[in-house]
Amino acid sequence: MTSRELIQKLEKERDLTDAGFVQLIRGILPDEEEELFARARAVREAVYGKAVYVRGLIEFSNICRNDCYYCGIRKSNAKVDRYRLTPEEILLCVREGYGLGFRTFVLQGGEDPWYTKERMADIIHSIKKEFPACAVTLSIGERTKDEYRCWYEAGADRYLLRHETADEEHYRRLHPADMSLSHRMECLYTLRELGYQTGAGCMVGSPGQTVDNLVSDLRFLQELKPHMIGIGPYLSHQDTPFSNEPDGSYRLTLVLLGILRLMFPGVLLPATTALGTIAPDGRERGLLAGANVLMPNLSPSGVRKKYELYDNKICTGEESAQCMDELKRRVESVGYHVVTDRGDSRIENGRRRIDE
Ligand code: SF4
Repeated sequence: MTSRELIQKLEKERDLTDAGFVQLIRGILPDEEEELFARARAVREAVYGKAVYVRGLIEFSNICRNDCYYCGIRKSNAKVDRYRLTPEEILLCVREGYGLGFRTFVLQGGEDPWYTKERMADIIHSIKKEFPACAVTLSIGERTKDEYRCWYEAGADRYLLRHETADEEHYRRLHPADMSLSHRMECLYTLRELGYQTGAGCMVGSPGQTVDNLVSDLRFLQELKPHMIGIGPYLSHQDTPFSNEPDGSYRLTLVLLGILRLMFPGVLLPATTALGTIAPDGRERGLLAGANVLMPNLSPSGVRKKYELYDNKICTGEESAQCMDELKRRVESVGYHVVTDRGDSRIENGRRRIDE
């Protein structure tokens, strides 16, 4: 089969054989990429129209108990200037974001035990009490089922937990021995079972990643059926063991966005900050490849630079939430428009009760 035939088959059947995915990922040519992106846009527009959802990202702690080899804020990096936002500071960010038009807030941080079950529940509860129409997304790593349940009951709607790689051997290459792929996957299934709109995802081009690994990621996503999939190019950080590893491919990330849109028509697919870091128009190109979500930064400007997962993260200027007009202009320049609503996944809307 040619790449064009594979793209058509993928659009029709939402799946390919492993060999088909490998061939498409390895062999797609630039004009075939344009066909993939055009079909991905058509599928995305059939489900979501021209709407682009925005989420206000609040990076509330750069303290982490883990030591992932690829991460700039890993616990062994002594050069990081560590910070935590207080519950009141987090609420101030939400208030500011609400005024700017945000109706989803993503609370993201390292795995920081200071934010206990009770503290997080209080934060979530106070946000939902003041802004009941808004969605709260958590992105704070692997925690216990009891904690996940408590936060869901406090009002959290969504949870992002990238699986990073679905291949055991590759996972070992990226993480120290005290972390495990099976536990990460267990957390994802637990979150889904509890009723969260759940997001998984991986880096593209992380050290040691093969095309077969990427196919394993696609298979895992088919099995998990997440509501959101976050992917971005791997970008190296100078103070990690992977400082000399090359960055991931911008082009391959776009191709994977297109493939994911054809596989999962109703999924929420962000054009990530990493994509905007690797190329100035990366996020716009992501939207044109099938993405439909942007997550501008709402963190206080004084801490943005300290949440540096990789080198040169865009974090001080027009990517921030405060520049909504610029963001809207960028989105409109590629034929879409920013909408101000919760932007739930079309896979499974709204909350469902835990005991269903
Ligand atoms: S990737 Fe996440 S869990 Fe791993 S060290 Fe960084 S912040 Fe911590």
